[in-house]
Amino acid sequence: MKKRALVLGCTGQLGSYLMELLLEKGYEVWGFVRRSSVGNVARILHLYDRVHLVNGDLTDTSSIESALRVSKPHEVYNCAAQTQVGTSFIEPLHTADVTGVGALRLFDACRMMRSLAESPRIYQPSTSEMFGASTPPQSEATPFNPSSPYACAKVFAHHSARLYRRAYGMYIACGINFNFESPRRGEEFVTRKITMAIGRIRAGTQTELRLGNLSARRDWSHAKDVAQAAWLMLQQPEPDDYVIASGVSYTVKEFVEAAFNLAGLDWQKYVVVDPQQMRPLDVAHLEGCANKAKAVLGWTPTVTFLELVKEMVEHDTILATSDASYP
Ligand code: NAP
Ligand code: GDP
Repeated sequence: MKKRALVLGCTGQLGSYLMELLLEKGYEVWGFVRRSSVGNVARILHLYDRVHLVNGDLTDTSSIESALRVSKPHEVYNCAAQTQVGTSFIEPLHTADVTGVGALRLFDACRMMRSLAESPRIYQPSTSEMFGASTPPQSEATPFNPSSPYACAKVFAHHSARLYRRAYGMYIACGINFNFESPRRGEEFVTRKITMAIGRIRAGTQTELRLGNLSARRDWSHAKDVAQAAWLMLQQPEPDDYVIASGVSYTVKEFVEAAFNLAGLDWQKYVVVDPQQMRPLDVAHLEGCANKAKAVLGWTPTVTFLELVKEMVEHDTILATSDASYP
């Protein structure tokens, strides 16, 4: 019998790579898509005839329950969330509702389904933002010190996952993911904002790139590697928490330099530091220790920082001069 998987947030960066991975592994794949007036399926258009899509929203319990009933999943991947830290300062209540309580709605809907079908295993993508100002390198043992409404919502979801694991014996595994990027990264995140600007500068349609805090340090991996880690977490005998990170960190300025160098451009001619891009509070340094994931899951990142930057710069250079969208 084919295994069935339900991917919430399948139109997003991680969800789209996970759908591809699960199809490759022979799963029957279901995606949970929220309604959009302008279309939000560009990242999964190439998968349309191979997956089943159901409509729903993480703020709407009945749509979650209905998606679970129709897909009868063995595995559920919760990639749906309001994921932008900056936006969470502008929309804190919406972020808490979707990113925090939304995850709990899903866990509880799965708990209620248990008598109807085999209990699904659940993947919850937690975040390094939960560590906030805690000293790097951060591991599973590092205390949480959230510094944004997004991080607070994720801490709530993370603790809810752990609670449902202990209280009800549910299989909920949490990946404590450090930043992951790709040519499918949302355009308001700093890496994609930089590589899209480079594409447009090369195409002659942009002359300036306005950025905020250039000294923030992040540990960047490829989203495809994170999808692989998510799948591995659900294949273990017991659910657990795993830091997923490259173990190397770079400043935003170093990302800018690497990307502009690859394009043969002098970044100082284009980058303007704009106070409006600064956050009320920012996380200075995230750098993960993924020793547990390496030892238990046998997971290692396959894409280096420079390979990631190169893939994004090349993709966005083509994008700026063509009708291409997502790879
Ligand atoms: P993303 O590209 O922003 O995708 C988010 C997905 O959630 C999209 O499909 C979006 O739908 C969907 N969504 C948003 N609000 C929803 C709602 N109310 N109901 C149903 N779906 C909703 O994010 P990502 O980079 O793939 O991240 C995936 C997960 O990993 C998220 O939980 C994120 O917080 C977590 N994470 C990400 C990182 C990172 O660096 N990327 C690091 C740590 C953890 P639309 O397409 O309609 O907008
Ligand atoms: P985050 O780590 O999940 O917040 O991912 P982002 O890509 O949104 O931000 C990474 C870092 O880049 C943060 O420290 C931001 O403050 C910093 N940054 C600097 N300029 C910008 C900008 O123009 N946009 C965004 N999104 N972040 C910026």
